[in-house]
Amino acid sequence: MKNNVLMQVERLTRRYGETRAVDDLNFTLHRGEALGLLGPNGAGKSTTLRILAGVLAPDAGRIVINGIDLLDQPRRAKQAIGYLPEPPPLYPELTVDEQLHYSARLHGLSRAASRQAIVRVKERCGLTEMGRRLTGNLSRGYQQRIGLAQAILHDPPVIILDEPTAGLDPIQLREIRNLICALSREHGVILSTHLLAEVQITCSHVLILRAGRQVYSGALAELDPRQQPGRLLVGMNTPPPVTVLARLPRVTQVDDLGEGRFRLHHAPGALPQRIVVELAYDCGWDLWELTPESVSLEQIFFDLTVSQGDSA
Ligand code: ADP
Repeated sequence: MKNNVLMQVERLTRRYGETRAVDDLNFTLHRGEALGLLGPNGAGKSTTLRILAGVLAPDAGRIVINGIDLLDQPRRAKQAIGYLPEPPPLYPELTVDEQLHYSARLHGLSRAASRQAIVRVKERCGLTEMGRRLTGNLSRGYQQRIGLAQAILHDPPVIILDEPTAGLDPIQLREIRNLICALSREHGVILSTHLLAEVQITCSHVLILRAGRQVYSGALAELDPRQQPGRLLVGMNTPPPVTVLARLPRVTQVDDLGEGRFRLHHAPGALPQRIVVELAYDCGWDLWELTPESVSLEQIFFDLTVSQGDSA
């Protein structure tokens, strides 16, 4: 994998006045990976993608695309990028072919190379029959395909997609997701979304953002709920004070649920049930419930992006 590094991002930062829209991002993208930038609205996804695509300057940080520093050699580095902004930049009065010819020329392709590239991307994006249709008369799904076709005309190794499925109906969603999955096999794809399900379907890797900071970065498989901090529900007729439970080994936090029930948070894989049973017996807590609480990927995402101290 090491030789297939397509993008390296180090300490990327961008402020708008007092707002740190992007705050110290670090990640690497390899060929064959689809990286989902996931986070609620305002988390910094679009700002990050605009910087990576070379249309917005960062305040600090380094971006190397296919071995070329984006800030030192922007023209060369940008040739290795295909960027689909949201909404896709289309001229409604042009036909699909005209639109693609125009983009191909902007990408610097010769007339002959443009013709070949357009045939290739139309086939790839399911647009072969649509060449003469007016862009403005097509559905949102088709417009998104044209946007994608424009982004890959020059066959860039890195494809950057800002909310590629925003506003699509379920059938269009499926088509575009399939297309993204197919593209990510040969390229490196970075896409943004606020939908966890989208990342689960289309991405191999995820970078979760919260108020501009990355709160998780890695393979999606590693975000396995079993590897996460766990919870144990405990019910007792004569419970001890919460402070006693909070001091138990491996317990990191205690929620008092009322009526003798508590949720004990513990480190990954370190269930404290044995010590609870032993102490309950020795101290007469009269234990009537001891249930490990399963944590879904959705809950992990929620905990990472929202509930850490500022759930308002
Ligand atoms: P996302 O794409 O995750 O919704 P954005 O990157 O659009 O997040 O925004 C991140 C933060 O930066 C937000 O707080 C937003 O209000 C702020 N922001 C984005 N663009 C601008 C701008 N042009 N001027 C001032 N603040 C901005």
